[in-house]
Amino acid sequence: MARTPVVAGNWKMNFDHLEATYFVQKLAWTLRDANFDFKRCEVTLMPPFTSIRSVQVLIDADRLKLTYGAQAVSVTNQGAFTGDVSADMLARLGCSYVLVGHSERRKYHPEDDANIVDQVRAVLAAGMRPILCVGESFEERRQGIELEFAVGQVQDVIRDLSDKEAERMLIAYEPVWAIGTGMVATPESAQQAAAAIRSHLGEVYGEGVSDKVRILYGGSVNASNATQLMQEGRDIDGFLVGGASLDADEFATIARLTA
Ligand code: PEP
Repeated sequence: MARTPVVAGNWKMNFDHLEATYFVQKLAWTLRDANFDFKRCEVTLMPPFTSIRSVQVLIDADRLKLTYGAQAVSVTNQGAFTGDVSADMLARLGCSYVLVGHSERRKYHPEDDANIVDQVRAVLAAGMRPILCVGESFEERRQGIELEFAVGQVQDVIRDLSDKEAERMLIAYEPVWAIGTGMVATPESAQQAAAAIRSHLGEVYGEGVSDKVRILYGGSVNASNATQLMQEGRDIDGFLVGGASLDADEFATIARLTA
């Protein structure tokens, strides 16, 4: 079945709300000038919490076809959890997506599999879609177990989801060694990993579900390597982009190459 590709910009801890506003305007102008067809590729932004409201206001006011989401979420809905932000709060801000299990969150915060499962549940319950990030470290790749590792991470998180929940997931295959390093996976290995993940989804849920799940590649994607990754990647439905999403021109180019 035809899946609409998506290009998601993970801004990480960059841009204050004024810079975010400027970025969105510039991206929207650039895409408009290029006659960008949003039916062929969804473009979504993941600002830090502090800029989500500014991005929302601008997108709503100008009726832009961009979507947006958050980079993290609490597993609880409200209460005495200083510094946390709940899924309901994000949904009320119009977020469509939430990144879950990004390797930087797994590394710098106590986010283990059980916590990631709870985040996925919270995001789904609030009516948004989780983008589950998985991918091997350099060591697992060296041992040649990268596919088992990435598929295992997916398996650990999705095992108790219903079909309806599973088909609303997006999965980002992001080898940890490729994130922010300039070392991109070869198109063949990115495709292989995406195919292995899709095949696992097929085994658990059947093709009706696995055909619907969008699988993204992430890790040093830029305007120079996006075309090759998309061409090789029959199972790759777009990209999760970090560094290159901070430049509106380059991010727009990646979106055009993905559409
Ligand atoms: C990311 O952090 O999700 C990412 C893919 O970063 P980069 O594109 O900078 O490698």
